[in-house]
Amino acid sequence: MTVNLYDTARQGIFPIEAGPVVTLYSCGITPYDTAHLGHAAVYMAFDILQRRLRDLGHETRCVRNVTDVDDDILRKARELGVHYLDLAAEQMATFDRQMAALGLLPSYSEPRATSAIPEILSLIQAAIDRGAAYQSGGAVYFDASSFAAFGSVSHRDRAEMLALAAEHGGNVDDPNKRDPLDFVLWQPSLEDEPAWESRFGPGRPGWHVECSALALRELGETLDVHGGGRDLVFPHHECETAQSETVTGRPFVRHWFHIGLVGLDGTKMSKSLGNLVFVDDLLERADAAAVRTALLAHHYRFDWEWHDGDLDHAVARVERWRGATADDDGASLAVVRAALDDDLDTPRALAGLDELAASGLSVRAGAALLGVTL
Ligand SMILES: [Zn+2]
Repeated sequence: MTVNLYDTARQGIFPIEAGPVVTLYSCGITPYDTAHLGHAAVYMAFDILQRRLRDLGHETRCVRNVTDVDDDILRKARELGVHYLDLAAEQMATFDRQMAALGLLPSYSEPRATSAIPEILSLIQAAIDRGAAYQSGGAVYFDASSFAAFGSVSHRDRAEMLALAAEHGGNVDDPNKRDPLDFVLWQPSLEDEPAWESRFGPGRPGWHVECSALALRELGETLDVHGGGRDLVFPHHECETAQSETVTGRPFVRHWFHIGLVGLDGTKMSKSLGNLVFVDDLLERADAAAVRTALLAHHYRFDWEWHDGDLDHAVARVERWRGATADDDGASLAVVRAALDDDLDTPRALAGLDELAASGLSVRAGAALLGVTL
């Protein structure tokens, strides 16, 4: 028995075939602003997957990195007039507190990008040594055309890749690149930005290289499960795969796990639109059991919309569950296990618990497997 999970690269549902220890890596936050529901949905999906894997007897090691140096955090620190590492430390503490309040399992480790500069530099050197990266204009770029399987995670054609790279800060017009799909591994820092000495000149890492370096350092060459929000498939995860596999010569990821994006009343939830729902606000209005239940009412794989009434529905649902107390003889646990093993179908798990609770049976054990304490 194992969890069957959708794999983005293979475009289908496949069993997780892992040893006693399952390694997972979820792309973490850039700690410069408060956590919103989109973050919570991603880490909740990793949480539920780990709970079922642990239930099956595996040990899970889930690393969540912290991008503590990039354009966003440097810009925000500049605006606030604080050191970027102070801003990062403060936001990381807040984020960890919120995720703990939501009842998420603690990470195996939460390594920071700035802790991995030596590993990042050796990875870049290894890519150059293999003829897959080149120096130009004070920066180092990965040559996307050197990796024959480029596109095997996202299944996008060149035009789509270029559009997505442009949307996600890929600087497709950078004149120092040989090809617009090439991506930066090392870049010169602006005058007021942090810079590290390197044989490529002083500078700071590009976005994608941090995750490859940290994943290799923390969990080894091949991850059992890797993922994050669906918007990371391209370019981030495609680029991670290209540079990692170029350097190690080994498969980087066995199972790609991507989580749908959360919208608010018909619009994508995003910082720039200012329409964010914050985890803290929800936890002020209801207990963690209800907030978790509200999130789990949506299948992780698909985009969904948050509506303000969702939390009230979840509160009422948890109340009904709490009112059902007759011995269920293991039925609620069986219902939740079967639903989770089928691509983490949490809506089905909740519906199964509703049915049992409606006949007065306790669903305490099944809810507990979902991290919902009744
Ligand atoms: Zn990442």
